[in-house]
Amino acid sequence: MSGRFVIIGAGPAGMRAAEVLRQKSPEADILLIGDEPHLPYDRPPLSKAFITDALDAARLALKPESFYAEQRIRLKLGARAEAIDRAGKTVLLAGGERVGYDRLLLATGCSGRTLPATLGTAVPVHYLRSLADAERIRAALRSGGEVVMIGGGFIGLEIAASARKLGAAVTVLEMAPRLMSRAVPALISDFVRALHERHGVAFEFDARLKALARGADGRPLVESARHAYPCDLAIAGIGAEPNTALAQAAGLAVEDGICVDAWGRTGDPDIFAAGDVTRHDSPILGRAIRIESWQVALNQAAIVAAAMLGAAEPYAELPWLWTDQYDCNIQALGLFEARLEPLLRGDPAAGAFSLLGLDAEGRIAAAITVNNGRDMGVLRRLATARAALAKDALADPQRKLSDLLKAARSG
Ligand SMILES: Cc1cc2nc3c(=O)[nH]c(=O)nc-3n(C[C@H](O)[C@H](O)[C@H](O)COP(=O)(O)OP(=O)(O)OC[C@H]3O[C@@H](n4cnc5c(N)ncnc54)[C@H](O)[C@@H]3O)c2cc1C
Repeated sequence: MSGRFVIIGAGPAGMRAAEVLRQKSPEADILLIGDEPHLPYDRPPLSKAFITDALDAARLALKPESFYAEQRIRLKLGARAEAIDRAGKTVLLAGGERVGYDRLLLATGCSGRTLPATLGTAVPVHYLRSLADAERIRAALRSGGEVVMIGGGFIGLEIAASARKLGAAVTVLEMAPRLMSRAVPALISDFVRALHERHGVAFEFDARLKALARGADGRPLVESARHAYPCDLAIAGIGAEPNTALAQAAGLAVEDGICVDAWGRTGDPDIFAAGDVTRHDSPILGRAIRIESWQVALNQAAIVAAAMLGAAEPYAELPWLWTDQYDCNIQALGLFEARLEPLLRGDPAAGAFSLLGLDAEGRIAAAITVNNGRDMGVLRRLATARAALAKDALADPQRKLSDLLKAARSG
């Protein structure tokens, strides 16, 4: 299929979709629209090496500018899509320009959730979603000082680790009783808490924010119900909201994400969606999920782009994501739901281990590796093979997972 393909959102999902559209359709007219002024770039380093190693912003670009010219992908950067006219098949841009499409992809990603205004405006609070946000935080951290990090999820903890590396004193306020509580079981939370405490991070759990104020000396003061924390810098990493306003205003189904099937199809046959903004059907998990993951954004977008051209293959992959804090690498495969039985492989005290989540039939449905990324490839294949495995063999780090996989495949 040829025709006009318009993509709104120039993040990893939008870029990857454009790339695959070109690979599969030499004739397609492809336009990638993004409201940020930059070429599509990688967000994961923003909370990590970008802050600590003063990584050059240009090195974050997913592809060089020449790629878009060579692939005949037209870029419209610094351009915000304001509305979709489904009947007229046009997109309205800020400034009044209208762009026609035959097939439209929404890859608008997420925005950082913000604290309620009722906390007060006396203290500027930093958030981290974009390169511009990261540049501001990096500049503020240059002078060290005291940082209060509101939120103990992946991004909050990565920023905490980066701030410690730069010599700042860090206190993390977490409203839940443990870290990363939505994504990982308690054993991993406890391991990560101990890791940060060894690096000198202080925590308040079950924290209820009361106010953002100024102390008598004029310094910012972050007040919880129990304590007041004077600081130089307040940063909040309290989750992200999918950018669904365009889709919603256009009458597409939205429910904490744009609702799409495993091909990225919305209810409109000419409008698709991909990446962090989607709540998509997962054939593997048997339900709709919304995941904020670099890999999902890239791989789902590739499948959706092919589907826009009529391909039949669905996006069917267990979600995978990673986080780096200090020298600790954690990778998570699947969703570690409460119904799963946790099985430990290796010794957390040794600093490298895996935690497997087994379903009622003894099959691996989720896995988390801690400084043990080399297990992840085989764990993914074991999960895909859906074979019931002997628990004692799985729990024994001396038994090679690849041997268990071979046995599962031949049995
Ligand atoms: C600090 C940080 C660290 C991260 N670390 C990790 C990690 O370690 N591991 C991991 O797996 N994932 C990580 N992630 C998540 C990962 O970056 C995202 O999953 C990924 O960026 C999603 O890609 P996307 O293209 O769907 O959305 P986005 O990257 O959000 O891109 C969407 C783009 O669309 C633009 N846009 C929105 N609305 C409009 C509009 N109306 N008009 C024009 N443009 C619009 C947005 O400004 C944005 O540029 C991290 C994210 C952040 C913020």
